[in-house]
Amino acid sequence: MALVETMTCRERVMAALNGQPVDRTPCANPTNVATVELMDMMDAPFPAACRDPELAARLASTGHTELGFDSIMPYFTIIQESSALGCDMQWEEKDNWPTVRMANPIWKGPDDIRIPEGFLDHPDNVTIVKAIEILRREFPDVAVIGKTMGPWTLAYHVFAVDKFLLMSIDDPERTMECLHKLKEISVLFGQAQIAAGADALTFPDHATGDLVSSEYYRRFLQDIHREMVERLDVPLILHICGRTLDRMPYIADTGMAAFHFDSKNDPQEAMDAVEGKIVLVGNVNNPETLYARGPEEVRAEVVRCLEAGVQMIAPECAIPLSTKLENLIEIPRAVKEWHEARA
Ligand SMILES: [Zn+2]
Repeated sequence: MALVETMTCRERVMAALNGQPVDRTPCANPTNVATVELMDMMDAPFPAACRDPELAARLASTGHTELGFDSIMPYFTIIQESSALGCDMQWEEKDNWPTVRMANPIWKGPDDIRIPEGFLDHPDNVTIVKAIEILRREFPDVAVIGKTMGPWTLAYHVFAVDKFLLMSIDDPERTMECLHKLKEISVLFGQAQIAAGADALTFPDHATGDLVSSEYYRRFLQDIHREMVERLDVPLILHICGRTLDRMPYIADTGMAAFHFDSKNDPQEAMDAVEGKIVLVGNVNNPETLYARGPEEVRAEVVRCLEAGVQMIAPECAIPLSTKLENLIEIPRAVKEWHEARA
């Protein structure tokens, strides 16, 4: 039977984030789904599309218009705030991600942390906020998702990953002090995006099982994440890549609306671990399935998530920039057909 859709894309995503009933499972990408092919199609290449609001909005809109997702995400990278803080940037070319150069970190400890005057007026922050304003106006019925980096991820950029992880071992109190100061940046940038019309915010905070223990998550981040829920007045989608199953029960207790999880975690085991306390989104594998395989394999992963009860379907993390469009288009198509078969 044909699937009758009774909700707009935006209503569907917001209902799912709030744990309410939906007409069908939404496809909502909390991180980037733009590709080189889409950049060419819209004449909006990296890095310009990361630094110009019109280009960012135009490229981001393809997530809905070309791929068929229920959401639009105009913050493609994880480095906009770090650029505005003065980090040493490598902006790269169309086919590569801009990054922070780790060789010359800007800060050494908590006393160095200062939010520069005019932080929100920095062009790389303005790009995101203005792109959200444009998209909110042009796509009133599509969920517009913003993104603000958590303090753990910001610490990687301003102190360098290895130095920050060493600090966390040597001096937990100093580490805590850094995180409390950095979280104000997360709040500031998040609030600006909410004022611009963001429906929800992705909150990447990369305390991944590949680098730190679940005890680290509980000790350093769980309370800060609870505080973010209080201070940022839209549903928050926590994003941590890699293995996270061991910390999912802690994550589920923060009050965050959703957790964007990686394919290194089995969808059914993840659903069991969070016990319905948080919505799960993501899980379709990037480097193997979306990048290197075809629509049939993509569909199989989507179905595995749907059958486990995962509430929103998406790639596990920012997709490789040369991902084939047919593989991305297959995600919403597979979701709709799965529901149709049950209608
Ligand atoms: Zn990630």
